[in-house]
Parts: sequence; structure tokens; C-alpha cells
Amino acid sequence: MVITLLSISDLSVRYGRSVKALHGVSFEVPEQTVVAVLGSNGAGKSTLLRAISGTLSLHRGEITSGTIHLDGTRIDRMDPASIVRRRLGQVPENRQVFGRMSVDENLRAGGLATEASRRAAARDAVLDLFPKLAERLSQPAGLLSGGEQQMLAIGRAMMGEPKVLLLDEPSLGLAPQIIERIGKVVSEINQRGTTVLLVEQNAMMALTVAHTAVVLEVGELKLRGDADELKRSEDIQRLYLGGH
Ligand code: ATP
Repeated sequence: MVITLLSISDLSVRYGRSVKALHGVSFEVPEQTVVAVLGSNGAGKSTLLRAISGTLSLHRGEITSGTIHLDGTRIDRMDPASIVRRRLGQVPENRQVFGRMSVDENLRAGGLATEASRRAAARDAVLDLFPKLAERLSQPAGLLSGGEQQMLAIGRAMMGEPKVLLLDEPSLGLAPQIIERIGKVVSEINQRGTTVLLVEQNAMMALTVAHTAVVLEVGELKLRGDADELKRSEDIQRLYLGGH
């Protein structure tokens, strides 16, 4: 039986009175899968992640209709801390590591909502996934390269042992080789049991890693399907993969 870990139903969001950022968006994220959300600038990708993580009000946004369920529990009226405690992990856009804190302190900060008895195991798992971070635990995070900071941001979120991990454009501003490594890490995280919602402008990377994908266009869900099929679709080729 397929268990749906994250379910978005008829979601509409607006900012202030006039900006309707999402209209009637519905899709599901089945357990153990990677689902990609594609879309160009302003399509509503970050808004979708803010709605899921409960942080819309920090951006003066509000849900005007619809529901979001995480593992069967309705979360669209919950505050961000309660949602994190229900084991939703988030890697924010632009990584946002704490630059003056050490790599280890960044990781420990990610484990604050984790049960104390689980923290050591969570840290071991993260260091196993990112051996490079293990070598640099005492260094200030701000001295890491962009790619390493992205790995740290992912590791920090994994300290919460999330059931679902939200990733907001992890490839942003990174070189192709590093993007490929990030794609591999996302696959590895998924193979180890975490369900992933991957928001990306880099459609090639996202469709390589994901099982299924949805495409947002000006706040509406325009396409959804199997990642391999979407990779071959002419619309996707033309719009996102540089084809003609
Ligand atoms: P990007 O890749 O550029 O981040 P996106 O797909 O994540 O784009 P959103 O940032 O979710 O898109 O933006 C969706 C729409 O909502 C856009 O029209 C944007 O201008 C608007 N918007 C986003 N944040 C706010 C805000 N805090 N106040 C008002 N409008 C906003």
C-alpha cells in the first residue's frame, strides 16, 4: 500500500490583498519518494514551501483555502515549531548556515528539536553521509565553500531525523559538478528512508533525482507526472531544459 506522507489539497495562498501566489494546488508526496517541484521565477515554489513549513505569516502571506496534511495530521493551521516537531525538515533557499558558528554547532542547532536520546545517532548518520563535514567540525561554517555550506544546511536539517525533507533550490549558484554531487546526496538520503520534496529551477538535476514531478506556472499546477516522462516531454524540454 502506498502511504501518502505529504498531501496538499486545493491550496491557495495570497500576500496582502492583491497578490495571489498559489491557486488551487493539489498533489501528493508518497512515502519513500522524491517529488520535484519545477517552475520559473515567481511561479510560487517558495510560497508552497512556506505554506508547508508554516512560515507564510513571516512573509505576510496567508492560506486562503485548502489543506496540508503531514503523515495524516492536518498542519496548515500549525506554527512552524509544532510542524518541525512532527518531523518536517527544511533546507532554506540560500542555505543560511550560521557563518560564525562552527560546523558542529550548526549541526547541533539542527538537532535541538530532536529527542535528546536520538541526537547522537542523528549526528553519526549525518557525519556518515557527509564525511567532509566530519573533517571540519570545529571550523566556522562561513569558511566553507558554497557547496560545502549546502551540504551543511542539508546535514543540519537531517539532524531532526525528518520524515519529509523540503529542499529549496539546493543547486542555486553552484557549479555543475557540485550540483551533481548534491543530486547524489539527495538520492542517498532518499535511499536511507527520507521522503523528499525538492524545489528546483535546475530541471535536469531535479528530474534525474526525482521519481515524480509537478510543474507550477504562475501559481497553478500545470503538469505532473513521472520524472523520466517529463524529462522527455517537449514542453519541459522547451521551457526548462534548453531544448527547442
Ligand atoms: P523564485 O524562484 O524567484 O523564488 P518562486 O517560484 O519561489 O520564485 P515565489 O517566491 O513563491 O515564487 O513567488 C510567487 C509570487 O508571489 C510572485 O508573484 C511573487 O512576487 C509573490 N510574492 C512572494 N513573496 C511575496 C511577499 N512576501 N509579498 C508579496 N508578494 C510576494
